Amino acid sequence: MRRPCSSGSCASSATYSMPAGGICACGELIVYLTSHTSENPGRHFWRCRNFKTPKDCGFFLWDDEVVVQSSGREGVVDMLRTELEESKKKLDELKMKLEDTKMKLEDTKGKLEESKNKIWKLDCEMLNKNMAFVAILIVVLAWVVSFCFIYGKM
Ligand SMILES: [Zn+2]
Repeated sequence: MRRPCSSGSCASSATYSMPAGGICACGELIVYLTSHTSENPGRHFWRCRNFKTPKDCGFFLWDDEVVVQSSGREGVVDMLRTELEESKKKLDELKMKLEDTKMKLEDTKGKLEESKNKIWKLDCEMLNKNMAFVAILIVVLAWVVSFCFIYGKM
């Protein structure tokens, strides 16, 4: 079976066994991934965190080829799997929160539009009132002026 890395830099699983504490030669926690190659679709594997970087120590191990040599090592695999599951859960939670925030944002946008419309309507009303006031003022002034004009003539 071929490895997901085509360069050949990945040694066979037989060379590697699950390291103590799930830490490879780089001194970092190995990662649990899923293969998407046509040869091994959906097959899980463990890989050095520094894969495809100059720091890569070459660690690679198919999950189904993990040789459980002691309960301690099995514990490490379980621990890493649990960590992964927890990360996935946290990611889902974050996604939910993001959706929630998006909905709240939409809601706020709607309210803003509503407020804008209300302000616009209020402006119109105030303008109408002012216009009415001005019209009354003109009528009153005209009336006063003509009144004075008539009395002035008499
Ligand atoms: Zn490494």
